[in-house]
Amino acid sequence: MQLKNYIGGRWVDPENGRYIQDIDPGNGDVVADVPASSRKDAERAIEAARQAYESWRRVPAPKRGEILFTVGQMLKERKHELAEKMTREMGKVYAEAAGDVQEGIDMAFYMAGEGRRSFGYTTPSELPDKFAMATRDSIGVAGIITPWNFPMAIPTWKIFPALVCGNTVVFKPASQTPILAYELINILAEAGIPAGVVNLVFGSGSEVGETIIGDPGVNLISFTGSNQTGRHVARVAGEGLKRVSLELGGKNAIIVMDDADLDLAVDGILWSAFGTSGQRCTACSRLIVQEGIYDALEQRLKDRIASLKLGHGLDNHTDVGPLINQQAVEKVHSYVEIGQREGARLVIGGSRPSDSVYSTGHYYAPTLFADVTSEMRIATEEIFGPVLSMIRVKDLDEAIAVNNRVTYGLSSSIFTQDVNRVFRSIRDLATGIVYINAGTIGAEIHLPFGGTRGTGNGHREAGTAALDFFSEWKAVYVDFSGKLQRAQIDA
Ligand code: NAD
Repeated sequence: MQLKNYIGGRWVDPENGRYIQDIDPGNGDVVADVPASSRKDAERAIEAARQAYESWRRVPAPKRGEILFTVGQMLKERKHELAEKMTREMGKVYAEAAGDVQEGIDMAFYMAGEGRRSFGYTTPSELPDKFAMATRDSIGVAGIITPWNFPMAIPTWKIFPALVCGNTVVFKPASQTPILAYELINILAEAGIPAGVVNLVFGSGSEVGETIIGDPGVNLISFTGSNQTGRHVARVAGEGLKRVSLELGGKNAIIVMDDADLDLAVDGILWSAFGTSGQRCTACSRLIVQEGIYDALEQRLKDRIASLKLGHGLDNHTDVGPLINQQAVEKVHSYVEIGQREGARLVIGGSRPSDSVYSTGHYYAPTLFADVTSEMRIATEEIFGPVLSMIRVKDLDEAIAVNNRVTYGLSSSIFTQDVNRVFRSIRDLATGIVYINAGTIGAEIHLPFGGTRGTGNGHREAGTAALDFFSEWKAVYVDFSGKLQRAQIDA
């Protein structure tokens, strides 16, 4: 399968004729050839989006929403096929890939509805015979840059609200997951999005990404990815006074108190730490455990981790799929070595599986460290793989302090049966998302999504919060007095 860019309503080859390969991380198969586009392709896409903007912003929002409704129906019809393709190019197990597509379906229907809401408000004027209101306005061309770990969910969380608000889009997906980006744009085109309103350019961050963040024709940037890239994006786009939303890394923790339902906690921990092989921004990589149940929890986790089955995501028996590529395996292993050097105790895992059936894919054994202290690098830096670190604490105060000590602030969770502890945690855990008696993953699309501190720059995705990023407020005053009325002076 050879993919093309989508620019100005046409599927086109990259101007330089260059392609790279998209590889199945589970078995090494080549699944697609992907354009390695140049700056010129990105500039053409930005120009197409600029030209389409004037007419798209005037399409009534309910009509824009109707197209998204059709997109939702098409995604739903093709859910199985899309999930299978996702597993092949990204590695996550089929059930999780289907969940990823489902997030796109949910977001399509939610944003279709916003076409008939997108509420502004009216408010009394301080002057007689004068009417005041605030409405949402479109902004212009949205540059959308996404990572590989949620190939359908993350692009749809950005593209759908951008469109319903009346913006046009230039989309650069991660090079590791181009097929899902291609299928999504194909569906948008088939559903009736006019030419130029959505444009897709495959290519590297250094060539296509840089062009999008620096081009004066792009008004806003919605970026999800690593902190290192995010800081660079903020600098370059900030220089051009673009509106920038950054959704970056995490170092999320589950707190387990002595009074927790341990069976429930173990299920939540395994799902949060090893789902998507730990490659979720909300993945749990720290386990903060009250001392009374520490040893019992460690033993239970060890037993359950030993029974997790590694394998290709399309195999029904697989619990944990591969990592995205060889660099990811090497990064994870280097953190395991760092943890051992720092004095943490390796309980289970800590290596690539030796069985030859795994030799063609990028597999790593689910790994548990105990006796980790909150200052160790494995307890503070994002590993983005199946490595979980257990930290021992005395009480809730210490647990909350440890949770809040890292520079990231995306998701946190606590298992306890005590209502006072629950409400103190809701108040004091300094993350954008807090779960009670559930793991750190499982966001729903109608609530705000994002993190505090080093996880981003204060914006939120999803729900109505997404509209706040993709639209601009306009204050409107209608004076029907027939005479000059001066605010603050004549009142
Ligand atoms: P990454 O930063 O390497 O890449 C993200 C995107 O940025 C890719 O499309 C890449 O090509 C592009 N890019 C790279 N250099 C660029 C440049 N100079 N200019 C413009 N664009 C550039 O991240 P990744 O490895 O793909 O994703 C993993 C990271 O994403 C993790 O840190 C994870 O926590 C984070 N993430 C965060 C969230 C969230 O919502 N907070 C969700 C998912 C993933």
